[in-house]
Parts: sequence; C-alpha cells; structure tokens
Amino acid sequence: SDVSDEKPIRVILANPRGFCAGVTRAIEIVDKCLELYGPPVYVRHEIVHNKHVVDSLRARGAVFVDELDEVPHGAVTVFSAHGVSKAVINDAKQRQLPVVDATCPLVSKVHKEGQNHAARGREVVLIGHAGHPEVEGTQGQIPGGVYLVSAASDVDGLVVRDPENLAYVTQTTLSVDDTREVIEALKLRFPAIVGPDVKDICYATQNRQSAVREIAREADLLLVVGSRNSSNSNRLREIGAEMGKPSFLIADAEALRPEWMEGVATVAVTAGASAPEALVQGLIDRLGDFGRVEVIEQAGVEEHTQFKLPRILQDGERIKA
Ligand code: SF4
Repeated sequence: SDVSDEKPIRVILANPRGFCAGVTRAIEIVDKCLELYGPPVYVRHEIVHNKHVVDSLRARGAVFVDELDEVPHGAVTVFSAHGVSKAVINDAKQRQLPVVDATCPLVSKVHKEGQNHAARGREVVLIGHAGHPEVEGTQGQIPGGVYLVSAASDVDGLVVRDPENLAYVTQTTLSVDDTREVIEALKLRFPAIVGPDVKDICYATQNRQSAVREIAREADLLLVVGSRNSSNSNRLREIGAEMGKPSFLIADAEALRPEWMEGVATVAVTAGASAPEALVQGLIDRLGDFGRVEVIEQAGVEEHTQFKLPRILQDGERIKA
C-alpha cells in the first residue's frame, strides 16, 4: 500500500525533557577537566546515570571508578552529580586527591538543609530510595545520620528519639505525588515535624513529571528515554503506568520493541534528566519504521536554570589536593 495514504503516527514530545542544569554542568566539568588537565581524569561513580554519556566521556579519557582506592595518588578526581558523603570527602583528602566536585547544587542544598536541622538538635528523616548514590551521599552528609523512609508504610515503624525535634528532607528525583503521601504520613505521626514540603524535589524533576502527565493523557503508549539506574527516568515511566498507559523506559531507539507499536496511533515521548537529546531524535527516526511520523512538540514550560562551573575550572588554575 502507499505509505503516504496511511494515517500518520502522532509523536508528542514532552517539554521540558532531557538534560537538566545539574547534568549539563556535571558533563561540562568532566569535559573541562579533560581539557585543562588532560586524561586520565578519574570520576567516582557514573558522572550522571546514562550509559551513552559515560561511554563518550570514557572514550575521551575519563576513568569511572566505584571507590577512591582505585584512583592513583594525585590524580584529578571528579565527584558525580549525585553527591558524596563526608566520609568520601575525607577519604579523598587523606589520599591527597585533587577533587573537582560535580555534585548538583540542588543536591548540595539538601545536604545543607539537613546539616542545619542537625545543628538545631533535630533528628532528620530522609525520604528517598535506599542504595541510590544520592541517598548514600545525603545520609553521610548529615551529622548523626538519618532515618531513611521510602514509602508511607515505612513511617509506622519509625522510632525516633524525640518527636518534638524532628525534620525531614528528600531526595531530589522522587515522585511528587508519592512524596506528598509520605510527608502526610510523617505529619500524622509526628505533628511537630518540620520540612520543605516537596521543594527538595528539584525543578527539573517536577517539570518533567508535570509535562509527561499532560502528554500521556492523549497517548496510547509512553516511551521514556533513559537508563535503568536513572531515578528520575523511572519516575516518569511510573506516571504513565499509573495512568493506565503502556509505558516503557528504554536506553535508546534499539530497545524499542515492534510489538509495542501494534495499534498505536499516538506515542508520548520524554527523556530523563540525564538522557541526551540525540537519543530522542534517534527514537523518532526509528518510529519512522512503523509509518509516517508527525512530531508535535508540547508547548510546556521554559527552563532557565543554569549553574556555574566550580571556580577552580572557571579560572583554569592548576588544582591541588
Ligand atoms: Fe540537579 Fe535535579 Fe538534575 Fe539531579 S535532576 S542533577 S538534582 S537539576
């Protein structure tokens, strides 16, 4: 049959989608380190949770390590966007590693909030997902440690020292809706608890969640471009699933399964905060295999947030441990 006569596949692109200011900055930091100091530049943990980003930096001389004991004495070391605990910072000092910190300023802001609460004698509840590097970093930035809860049901079992002296902070990439529920449960059990409502959830996470909710409504299928270990990408997929739409998180166009496209007239597409736009464009090309594609960009909100590079890189000086 003549393809041009067929009804086009409507592809609605979420706005905003993809890179946030913290990811852009973290990638620029590794870039700039490679340029100023030359390879190898060591990066603790994946700089951002995206395999394509990591692979391309690795090809240029970045070396990704899980722990600092894998870094040779004196080698330039970058901390990832997710942040690190005080223990890691001290470890780097002891090893005399020249460090450039790519922790997102919005993650650092949560660290400071937690530290301020601790300084006022409050115990801190951290709402977040166990094992995520941001959560490990935040846990280890707050003196006295935190109580980690990830769901409203965790709140029942919480035993604190003094319910009158309690605060909470959150991971930056949570589901806004789920977090509201957890906060409500905390307030019910500990009416004196203080905290930021959902404001620790960063602007990029909030905007991407609102955008995807809007476009998924009109779609038969939701595709989220992002890596499996990307927290904010997983939350985007969950929103589609909660709305009853078939929703898939895919690393790139190759991961798209033809059977997902059966009977689909409208596809909603978004990308997590660490997923490069080239991967979205690759997916749109691939969707062209299933028919003529008509791309519609959601109007969406504009983002203007930008973060400066660390001073040391702005000045281009040599760094010392
Ligand atoms: Fe920063 Fe939010 Fe991006 Fe994480 S998702 S790097 S907190 S702006």
